[in-house]
Amino acid sequence: MELNKFRLRDQLIDGELFENIRKVALQEEEWDENKKKDVERFEKTVLQRLRKKRPVKRYKKLGIKKSDLKEVIQLADITSLELFQGPSNWELAQIHPEWCNHCGKCCTQSSPLFIHRDERRAITTLNPFLKDEIIPNQDYPEHFQFKEDRPCKYHDTEQKRCQIYQTRPQVCQNYPLMLIGSEGKEHYIINLRHNCHYATRLVLEKAIILFDEAVKRKTEGIGIRL
Ligand code: SF4
Ligand code: SF4
Repeated sequence: MELNKFRLRDQLIDGELFENIRKVALQEEEWDENKKKDVERFEKTVLQRLRKKRPVKRYKKLGIKKSDLKEVIQLADITSLELFQGPSNWELAQIHPEWCNHCGKCCTQSSPLFIHRDERRAITTLNPFLKDEIIPNQDYPEHFQFKEDRPCKYHDTEQKRCQIYQTRPQVCQNYPLMLIGSEGKEHYIINLRHNCHYATRLVLEKAIILFDEAVKRKTEGIGIRL
């Protein structure tokens, strides 16, 4: 492969497959202009941080460019590292609770707050006062949601903490990882909320892991020593 045509991402994933996954990830939700801008801002923020961690000039011999960093970030945003025998998003998030800066956006801006039918009884048994606060879900009537959201009634705005933290719904435990699907579609994907500091750190961590793996594959392949 000629150096000037080299794309780091090709060390990790087939280009066509990448484009298809990216298309699905970005179309599966109803992406309005604000959401698109959120993604652009998000990926730009991660890029600024990745350039400090992995400056391209250090990898000049390999022909790595700023656009390669961008593509690695896009890949990190839409795929789990499990595809590359790495940790899942969930595993990474679990060992880094400090990535959450307690800004409270997830609790004040999310709607509806989905409650799976299998978790409703546990939540109301442990919090009897919630019995009248949970109603059928507007999109999935076999499931439920909190009656009041945006902001969630159980968000303590002064302390910036959840008042029912130990028994909060699964969707809150998983944030910023979201299961995205739309009516009539038979498949669902895991997507990230892009206005969240936690998500920024998660994708940065994944991008670093992916970048290092791609460089390793490239250097082993062509025998370059950095
Ligand atoms: S999970 Fe994200 S949006 Fe929610 S409080 Fe933490 S940083 Fe903010
Ligand atoms: S239940 Fe707790 S974690 Fe979930 S949105 Fe409400 S305040 Fe936030």
